[in-house]
Amino acid sequence: MRRWRWRANWSDEARPAAPDNLLAMNDPDCIFCKIIAGELPGQIVAQDERTVAFMDISPATRGHVLVVPRRHVKDLLEIEAEDLSAVALAAQRLAGRARDRLHADGVNLLNSCGRAAWQTVFHFHVHVIPRYEGDPLRLPWDPAPGSPEEIASAAAELRED
Ligand code: AMP
Ligand code: ZN
Repeated sequence: MRRWRWRANWSDEARPAAPDNLLAMNDPDCIFCKIIAGELPGQIVAQDERTVAFMDISPATRGHVLVVPRRHVKDLLEIEAEDLSAVALAAQRLAGRARDRLHADGVNLLNSCGRAAWQTVFHFHVHVIPRYEGDPLRLPWDPAPGSPEEIASAAAELRED
């Protein structure tokens, strides 16, 4: 696959356009589309043909990054497979950098799909959250054994036919 890269020292003329099909579907009201387009400030740390990664403005921990597809899409249930794959691979690369350069002890990847799941920006994104021994983040649920009947009944509804 051909890699498209933006370099900070390219002039506007020299900067190669991202392929038209990857720019065509942006949402003029979306803050992440505006960051991707350079219309809003953002600390961009990586990009390729399909994805952009930039620093979260309200970091959970040091080095918290958001990876987004260039193409505007609302959430996990709407993103197309190739963009989802590209975001996942970019998130994996950023996780490696968090370990190697920030000396993170671990990493959480987080995606929120829908308001009920805490999504607040409706342009699909994966949080790459470096974790450090002793940091203040906590699991948002209390792990406790569930009812076996209830687990089985949910499994029956989820299972492929
Ligand atoms: P979520 O709540 O999962 O939809 O995540 C949205 C994330 O976007 C939050 O962690 C915000 O801190 C972050 N965010 C909102 N506006 C900006 C911005 N202008 N630049 C960078 N991150 C932002
Ligand atoms: Zn967008």
